[in-house]
Amino acid sequence: MELACLDLEGVLIPEIWIAFAEKTGIEELKATTRDIPDYDVLMKQRLAILDQHGYGLPAIQEVIGTLSPLEGAKEFLDWLRLRFQVVILSDTFYEFAMPLMEKLGFPALLCHKLEVNEEGRITNYLLRQRDPKRQSVRAFQLLNYRVIAAGDSYNDTTMLGQAEKGILFHAPQNVINEFPQFPAVHTFEELKKEFLKASTRVSE
Ligand SMILES: [Mg+2]
Repeated sequence: MELACLDLEGVLIPEIWIAFAEKTGIEELKATTRDIPDYDVLMKQRLAILDQHGYGLPAIQEVIGTLSPLEGAKEFLDWLRLRFQVVILSDTFYEFAMPLMEKLGFPALLCHKLEVNEEGRITNYLLRQRDPKRQSVRAFQLLNYRVIAAGDSYNDTTMLGQAEKGILFHAPQNVINEFPQFPAVHTFEELKKEFLKASTRVSE
């Protein structure tokens, strides 16, 4: 049995924090792990900024609801789901992803969770586990699935390494250079071909 695992942000949808920062004009929210390597520090800063600007979860979801999947992403996902069981492995939060998952036809999603109080204020965040993408692939392999995985960034590389086949999609050049063991493609048509090549079961 084969399973396709896909990263979400940068592969099917835009980077949520960047898109949210652009929509709202809150420049400080554009900081990423490249600027602040400690994810905990970065997330605390993001939540504090949301608080300062008075953004509770409903307002954030409203903004995220105006975002769209990347061009061609829905069609690609529909194509993939006809041929493979598909699970999205993401480092985002359910509460942020849901308005966009609706536009993708609600594929299975494993990610993290936010804590929200009665007024809708985000009070904390809960990471599901350490190295969650790789651990998910390991767990699927224990269930006798052969995994083909695709992602765009550093947080995907342990997942790509754990999978029977890993594919870089939309990756920046530095990631491509650092991980030459993975094929790197940039369009959904090429990505379809890589999935077909990687599969031992599906050929068209
Ligand atoms: Mg990504």
